[in-house]
Amino acid sequence: MVCSGAARNGFKGLMDELGDIVAVMVGVAVDGPYSYRVPAGMQVVRGSVVMVPLGPRSTLGVVWGAPKDKVAHNRLKDITRAYDVPPLSDELLRLIDWVSRYTLAAPGMVLRAALRSHEALEPEKPVTAYRTTGTIPERMTGARERVLDVVMDGMAWAKPALVGASGVSPSVIEGLVKVGALEQVSLPPPPVVQAPDPDFRPMVLNAEQQAGLDQFRAMAEGFGVALLDGVTGGGKTEVFFEAVADTLRAGKQAVILLPEIALTHTFLERFTKRFGVRPAEWHSDMTPVQRARVWRGVMSGQVRAVVGARSALFLPFHELGLLVLDEEHDGAFKQSDGVNYHARDMAVVRANLAGAKVILSSATPSVESRNNANLGKYTHIRLESRFADAQMPDIRSIDMRAEGPEKGQWIAPELAREIFATLDRGEQVLLFLNRRGYAPMTLCRACGHQYQCPDCASWLVEHRFRGVLMCHHCGHEMKKPESCGQCGAAESLVPIGPGIERIAEEAAERFPDARRVVLSSDMGSNAQIRDRFSEIERGEYDLIIGTQLVAKGHHFEKLTLVGVLDADLGLAHGDPRAAEKTYQILTQVAGRAGRAAKSGRAYLQTYHPDHPVMQAMMRDDSEAFYAHELEVREQGGLPPFGRLAALIISANEHEVAFGFARRLLAAAPMAEGVKLFGPADAPVSMVRGRHRVRLLVQSPKDFDLSGYVRFWLQAGEKVTGNLRVQVDIDPMSFY
Ligand code: ADP
Ligand code: ZN
Repeated sequence: MVCSGAARNGFKGLMDELGDIVAVMVGVAVDGPYSYRVPAGMQVVRGSVVMVPLGPRSTLGVVWGAPKDKVAHNRLKDITRAYDVPPLSDELLRLIDWVSRYTLAAPGMVLRAALRSHEALEPEKPVTAYRTTGTIPERMTGARERVLDVVMDGMAWAKPALVGASGVSPSVIEGLVKVGALEQVSLPPPPVVQAPDPDFRPMVLNAEQQAGLDQFRAMAEGFGVALLDGVTGGGKTEVFFEAVADTLRAGKQAVILLPEIALTHTFLERFTKRFGVRPAEWHSDMTPVQRARVWRGVMSGQVRAVVGARSALFLPFHELGLLVLDEEHDGAFKQSDGVNYHARDMAVVRANLAGAKVILSSATPSVESRNNANLGKYTHIRLESRFADAQMPDIRSIDMRAEGPEKGQWIAPELAREIFATLDRGEQVLLFLNRRGYAPMTLCRACGHQYQCPDCASWLVEHRFRGVLMCHHCGHEMKKPESCGQCGAAESLVPIGPGIERIAEEAAERFPDARRVVLSSDMGSNAQIRDRFSEIERGEYDLIIGTQLVAKGHHFEKLTLVGVLDADLGLAHGDPRAAEKTYQILTQVAGRAGRAAKSGRAYLQTYHPDHPVMQAMMRDDSEAFYAHELEVREQGGLPPFGRLAALIISANEHEVAFGFARRLLAAAPMAEGVKLFGPADAPVSMVRGRHRVRLLVQSPKDFDLSGYVRFWLQAGEKVTGNLRVQVDIDPMSFY
């Protein structure tokens, strides 16, 4: 295996190029690196992690290279410290520059995603261990004897291990040290994870999977992207695991990015089964210490495979050979606060810089990725049938205009009959509604008052389990009032429309004997949600009522019926990706049905059974969907045939935001093929007391939209006071 020493040597060549003044990028929102002096005796190269003074304090930074402009030597400050860790790779530095240029985020802000706290850079503390000295204590006790029996092997035992093996209290061990029977030694800290074994338990792939893997293996050396496009339950995971194994065998590192890693154990367990050890993880549910250890392990080359959330993209790999994005279409890959990057696109950028491969895996690829596969830019690997005997679910629609539920109910009669039949067979049912809470709106029957968030342009959503009305934009909540806050009428408040809690209420009435569980992201901690998933897998529930949280990726063997209560929910928005997103979520949720031996069925309750999305769903014809959607996009000049950028201008007063947006529009540079829309109030026109006004820019496909927007903003009026301009290149959501 290649280890850190080799990676370090790769940078030797750069050593001499830097003089005694260097440019250091610091992790703050400034435009570029600052110059610092390298004190005598300190050696730094491009990528060295350093501590530098910045204003009154010290901050972490990374040596970016030679300074751009000459600054008088005596006006510069010294680098305070160079950390004893391998320099960040040139590839990672270039990725940071790239992401910054593309998203218009300050490079220092992007750098923050790649750097950990300064604690993470300190060498890890050695572990204290104990070893026999050969001396026998004068006073021997039973407990002492047990300890000495254990250390007879001559090995150094860490305290917890020794306590565990001998069953004594720690004070016995300390006593033995005092009398000279044990000596204390320092051991290097254990690795954060063991190395995964590519040959631990390879799956025997079926013919279709094997053909897919062969296609991947046949790709040219170096950079390349494969779209692993296979039906839900097609066995995509097993295929990309083999690609990971190839990567490990070749002495390279691999990273698998998952959209919602903190919420499931299953994937980690599958990895463990395949490779014999747990992968290193990377997500927000880890402690800073765990993260620091993984970060260091990746950097030193000790960690060979990481399974993580989108930010794992910025880990300091030196030998990256493969990036896998599972569920590549998932919106969670787009970061929408701070640096607005899309992990899928930036993974391709990083792979390109590293000469690595990318596998984008999905049953419902993004329209962009499908287009790239159609054009031959991506290797298109297809898995068209489910693994083993599993069949694709049978999908039907229920026309809500003619066959809808009775008044006061949300489950149509036909779906209800199916639910009974499925429960009778001892199989599981999933009722899907992508809306948290009890009801999306609360209305006073007496005066018509509708409860709204005081700080956002949005209705307060009733959460009946918790007895509150809550804003889903800012989290503001109030106790659900007894009487109308406007007219004072008692018991006049009525819920309008359903959320999953309301479906759960109906289910409790109509299917009282079914063991039911309600699941959405607000139903407890990540650990609690993971427990619910395990219980569902073990068949401890019959009826699952959930949001998109349940729709993705899970493999519930007993689940054979899926009821989508409002298949139209995503279609209503003025979002150019509405059809795509709806198709994806419906396919994913329907794909939970019948993944094992028993065949599955899905019902879509819809007011638009003729909509192309519903039609493609029912005919199980993804080709028709992509063909239609690509045509619509091409006609509209929308991605991937054109490009979009959104500018959200916000301020405490509407007039300030709107006025600024109007002047900004007037100052927009002319460019061929560029169209500007707005200003208009954003669909959610106020969040947290800030009014939001939107400008949209549409450009041809091969246009440098980031460069255009940067030029525009730099030339335009200064952003002052409480004004804020947020730039979103390639926006995924349009709220
Ligand atoms: P996808 O990711 O395409 O939805 P999975 O990889 O989860 O599909 O596979 C579906 C099921 O089939 C899983 O339970 C998986 O373990 C099983 N499976 C897939 N391929 C194989 C194989 N070659 N050998 C044994 N089991 C497999
Ligand atoms: Zn709010």
